Amino acid sequence: MTQDELFKVLVAHCKEYGFIFPSSEIYDGLAAVYDYGQMGVELKNNIKKYWWDAMTRLNENIVGIDAAVFMHPKTWVASGHVAAFNDPLIDNKDSKKRYRADNLIEDYLGKIEEKMDKEVEKGRKRFGEAFDEAKFRETNPNILREKAKYDEIHGRYKKAEETNDFAEYKQIILDCGIVDPISGTKNWTDVRQFNLMFSTQFGSLGEGADTIYLRPETAQGIFVDYINVQKTGRMKIPFGIAQIGKAFRNEVVARQFIFRMREFEQMEMEFFCKPGTEMEWFKFWKEKRLKWHENLGMGAENYRFHDHEKLAHYANAACDIEFKFPFGFKELEGIHSRTDFDLGNHQNLSGRNLQYFDPESGEKFTPYCVETSIGVDRMFLTVLSHAYTVEELEGGESRVVLRIPAPLAPVKVAVLPLLKNDERLTGKAQEVMNLLKYDFNCQYEEKDTIGRRYRRQDAIGTPFCVTIDHETLNDGCVTVRDRDTMSQERVPVAELRARIDAKVNLNNLLRNL
Ligand code: ATP
Repeated sequence: MTQDELFKVLVAHCKEYGFIFPSSEIYDGLAAVYDYGQMGVELKNNIKKYWWDAMTRLNENIVGIDAAVFMHPKTWVASGHVAAFNDPLIDNKDSKKRYRADNLIEDYLGKIEEKMDKEVEKGRKRFGEAFDEAKFRETNPNILREKAKYDEIHGRYKKAEETNDFAEYKQIILDCGIVDPISGTKNWTDVRQFNLMFSTQFGSLGEGADTIYLRPETAQGIFVDYINVQKTGRMKIPFGIAQIGKAFRNEVVARQFIFRMREFEQMEMEFFCKPGTEMEWFKFWKEKRLKWHENLGMGAENYRFHDHEKLAHYANAACDIEFKFPFGFKELEGIHSRTDFDLGNHQNLSGRNLQYFDPESGEKFTPYCVETSIGVDRMFLTVLSHAYTVEELEGGESRVVLRIPAPLAPVKVAVLPLLKNDERLTGKAQEVMNLLKYDFNCQYEEKDTIGRRYRRQDAIGTPFCVTIDHETLNDGCVTVRDRDTMSQERVPVAELRARIDAKVNLNNLLRNL
């Protein structure tokens, strides 16, 4: 299966098993808006709990808040979103499709890079052991030609980006002969600016100021509450404030399923520190966040750092943690050193004093801030895309299994009486349910053959199936089947809780952080 096909199959699987549905599907859906179904919400809650506990329980100097989605409109002036949260847009007049001009140019540059990489691979094959890649890149005429083209376009593009020169964006698209992938034509409109914030009307604000925005990030809720938390929590710098909540962006190109949505959820933590110490904390949080990801056991090779060369005007360091999605390495989480940009601007615009008084040194300063920001939905997609496996079994059969890290799995245990019309078995199964349901999310299933029931549980990633059969009535043991190995073992009912807990308890993950 190609990665593209795998992705399509995964989207279908998400719907079939109640993980994710298109929003308002009976009305044909709403672009880039999705609902989490009965399985999805459990997985999503587990991801959020893993993050929340790792932040607020394992760090004594981090506390959480839950700020409102609606915020005073001045918030977005101070944060820079009103002036600068824009994408350069271009339409193809034939296909009537809209694209981000910067993405079209970046894709074009990506293709040049691919060509150069292919040339290198050819060289490697030709020269074998003696191959010197650096030298080859410096001397091979094909690579040099492509590199010159790359440098010229890249230089123009970066300059246009810095100066917001939309005419130049269009000129680059025309000069490179970039065509619309759908219509195949170069019939482009001019490039226009498009603000990504959703606006709506708010009743009680003064005249002319009744437009407010749905927050495009949760972070500003933390900044405007900073002083309240610092004072009421008697927090001493350095300390952090964590928050999980919805964010809204009117994304221009909203494809790739839940990777880029118009309504999504973020888990953000702002860590306030003394100016001059922010690089230490930036490094600290980069490592700490990577460890949080790797701790899930989804393969260290699937993550990488991408340090930003070009920094947003407010940042003095920025890095993404990228994950290998089915469509390649892409941003999963951002870690930014935001200086005192946010607090400073809120201080100026609100006229409130947001300075910190250091009781030890007697100094007053506006704290600097290091942010970690991850999308819950993107995290969900990493877990699912990594988990989805089609496995060949003996006898030409195959099974679909979601190898979700056990502490995140939506259902932890399926309780299955072997036969549905034997009350002794169903009664015993209900007893087992009652024993386990306070600790674990359990599912009781009695329909279909046991083999089919196992397959259904594999498809939603349930780590354990517990089967109650006639022997159980005599020896008090049940058959425990392991999702990953499919091995089966007889376990006394009295030991069941501890056995399951050892594998699925979230605290075991947290202990390794
Ligand atoms: P991108 O470059 O992919 O648009 P970004 O750099 O704008 O992302 P940030 O503003 O840094 O993203 O947001 C922090 C995190 O929020 C991202 O790393 C991502 O996980 C998540 N996120 C951002 N936009 C979306 C979206 N439209 N849908 C889902 N998750 C998102």
